[in-house]
Amino acid sequence: MDSTFYADIILPVPLPRLFTYQIPEEWTSAIVPGMRVVVPFGNKKYYSGVVYSLHDQKPEAYETKEIISILDKQPVVNEVQLNFWRWIADYYMCTLGEVYKAALPSGLKLESQTKVHYNADWLSGAKLNAKETIVLDYLAEKKTASIQDLNNITEMKNSLPVIKSLLDKQAVFVSERLKDSYKPKTKKVLQLAPEYSHEQKLQNAFTELSRAKKQLNALMVFFTMIGGAHKNNYAKTIDKNELKKKSGASTTVLNELISKGLFIEIETTISRLDTDATSTKGMHNLNPIQQKARQQIQQQFALKDAVLLHGVTSSGKTEIYIQLIQEQIKQGKQVLYLLPEIALTTQITSRLKLVFGNQIGIYHSKYSDAERVEVWNDILNKENYKVVIGVRSSIFLPFDNLGLIIIDEEHENTYKQFDPAPRYHARDAALVLAHMHKAKVLLGTATPSIETYRNTQVGKYGLVELFERFEGIKMPRIQTVNVREEKRKKKMSSDFSPLLVEEVGRALENGEQAILFQNRRGFSPYLECAQCSWVPKCKYCDVSLTYHKHINQLVCHYCGHSNYLPRTCSACESPALHTKGFGTEKIEEDIRIIFPEAKVVRMDLDTSRTRKSHENIIRSFERSEVDILIGTQMISKGLDFDKVSVVGILNADSMLNYPDFRAFERSFQMMAQVGGRAGRKNKQGTVIIQTANPDNPVILDVVNNNFKNHYQNELAERETYKYPPFYRLIYLTIKHKNANIANQAADYFGQYLRGIFNERVVGPQAPPISKIQNWHIRKVMLKLESGVSLPKIKTMLRSAIDTVVSHPGFKAVVIQADVDPM
Ligand code: ADP
Ligand code: ZN
Ligand code: ZN
Repeated sequence: MDSTFYADIILPVPLPRLFTYQIPEEWTSAIVPGMRVVVPFGNKKYYSGVVYSLHDQKPEAYETKEIISILDKQPVVNEVQLNFWRWIADYYMCTLGEVYKAALPSGLKLESQTKVHYNADWLSGAKLNAKETIVLDYLAEKKTASIQDLNNITEMKNSLPVIKSLLDKQAVFVSERLKDSYKPKTKKVLQLAPEYSHEQKLQNAFTELSRAKKQLNALMVFFTMIGGAHKNNYAKTIDKNELKKKSGASTTVLNELISKGLFIEIETTISRLDTDATSTKGMHNLNPIQQKARQQIQQQFALKDAVLLHGVTSSGKTEIYIQLIQEQIKQGKQVLYLLPEIALTTQITSRLKLVFGNQIGIYHSKYSDAERVEVWNDILNKENYKVVIGVRSSIFLPFDNLGLIIIDEEHENTYKQFDPAPRYHARDAALVLAHMHKAKVLLGTATPSIETYRNTQVGKYGLVELFERFEGIKMPRIQTVNVREEKRKKKMSSDFSPLLVEEVGRALENGEQAILFQNRRGFSPYLECAQCSWVPKCKYCDVSLTYHKHINQLVCHYCGHSNYLPRTCSACESPALHTKGFGTEKIEEDIRIIFPEAKVVRMDLDTSRTRKSHENIIRSFERSEVDILIGTQMISKGLDFDKVSVVGILNADSMLNYPDFRAFERSFQMMAQVGGRAGRKNKQGTVIIQTANPDNPVILDVVNNNFKNHYQNELAERETYKYPPFYRLIYLTIKHKNANIANQAADYFGQYLRGIFNERVVGPQAPPISKIQNWHIRKVMLKLESGVSLPKIKTMLRSAIDTVVSHPGFKAVVIQADVDPM
């Protein structure tokens, strides 16, 4: 019997399988699933991966290699997480390796950065063979080398066995890049050395220092800071930097005191995370309407795993969440509060911080890697953090005791990850995660997605409604302006209708604020030659370039490529290149001309790349330092401003005309959400929608605040045209750098699929943007009626994909699956 043990390991490679490695005998009891290990891979590569399972089955097909190091003493990924990863990989048709890459913060992932160090203390007693001598000589000179370096020494192809035996002989030691990539943040504190707690000794010290004025002064300040020279205070520590500041002493002066033995210097780790607020104020009592909603939620939870809280903007949903979170904490449970993106977190975070203080962890995409590792470890070590507020990737945090997941703004499509795989939907995945924890899910929004609302209608989810704004503030008055009419009557020379200008003007006079929404950044979406209608396009993508005036460049919003502005048309050399349409930059420029006195700020991807810049814009708007806020969909979400009385939606039509089956749903959500920013406190607000089609049913539903009508219409359309929630979609994207090959592969693949799935296959087609970064893109869509076996279909699909990509004619063709595309 072979008594060797093996570990099946998840590695960050796009192969749909686990990798079996041998566990060195001395580690058999040290390794458990969920730990990270470093293993050799292929010829000269090393990866860190996560142990998925252990067993004693020697693989038949290949020789196993050994694990070369274990990075953890405790698992960093728990059992529920591993099951969850497995579910994601199966459902979204990707590999466990891809899930691993998305799930772990990069500070916890090392790639082949094991360093080997020469052990200077080595007593050279042991005999070395020729290869060992070569490696050790090399290391004796260099002191440190990566495994790759050692592999590159001429006589050496695979240095691993040599390193292992040198390790056994203790001639070398290894370290991991983890130590480089994630360092805890520390600070230095000073403490009085214990022997000076004797009065006599302390007196002597003071006398001895009488001529070292600066040191004496620093010592005195130190005593003031600990609260006086009394033995009760002697154990206290003082931040070295603070003492420097307060006493004016230099580092040298303080170091003198340390070397004289008066102070002991201690290095302590501190958190990078913002841990200021700790008070438990800020929790409001719910009013009777909210209380009733809360009771209903609890009643529904007794019957169902998920409940939708459908509440108009500003109805006080967040306050209800706060109460529910409090309850979970009391029961010793964890809560995950999902938000679609960071635009929201500043305001909601500060609100929740007021209530829950340090029990809250925040996890978002603009956090540094070290900060994310810290949040991860804190949850793992069960320190603090009963509540985590986070963006979609926070579903991967190492929770072990979730009681509730709140999915705020559940309709938001930023919950869906587009690229790279796993192309998961955090809302849908969170429902599965909750199930694994036996936790409940509360979905909240003013504009439910069609899918979620339908789930309430068929009895799968509970439904609780809040139709009144907090304190009975009226819903905004919504008006439309027919821009085609206005232009025909020559009343509209700029992008603003007279009504909008009038309303904004009135708001400014009253000391109120206005928000202008335009869902395109840049100055104008494209340029056009007045002579021949030529439009500059991206070299790499099949899209027109957006003109950005402040940098005077044409920018591709798909690949980021930018060009200087051409002086003349590339087709006919006419100098008459005109800007067409308008983006946020142009709105900003034009509104400044109309209201030269007003303070105007723009919030879009270009002005808020960093966490800080984003926060600054929101803060200054909150503090009324800004009169008019212009922005893209970034401003449409959850922001709660008190003094906004007018919201202008400048071009409703571009959203409505987007070629996608969700265009109407998105337009409704966008307009209702942006409009919801108006008139939140004190008085009714006004929303003005500029459109060429004021009779469009979606616009009418927005104007009448009639979600149910919108839902019924959408549902009927979806049923007729075979879309979700009646049918499941899987998009298959076929890509190649050569257009012909892309076409051929797509045709072949389409035919192949039709042979299996018949009329469920739609396409291949070229999508609206058929080339991105030189990749030619074709799409095939699979429409699956409910009741079909998804696992079976996915298995067939995988083998169909394999067949095509391994076809000799289709080398380098990429096929990606997107399950439940958005
Ligand atoms: P929503 O999340 O539905 O948009 P919020 O919870 O943000 O609504 O509430 C809107 C505003 O009303 C916020 O400023 C909030 O602080 C306030 N508010 C809501 N409920 C209460 C309450 N029970 N007591 C005091 N203020 C409340
Ligand atoms: Zn031209
Ligand atoms: Zn491009």
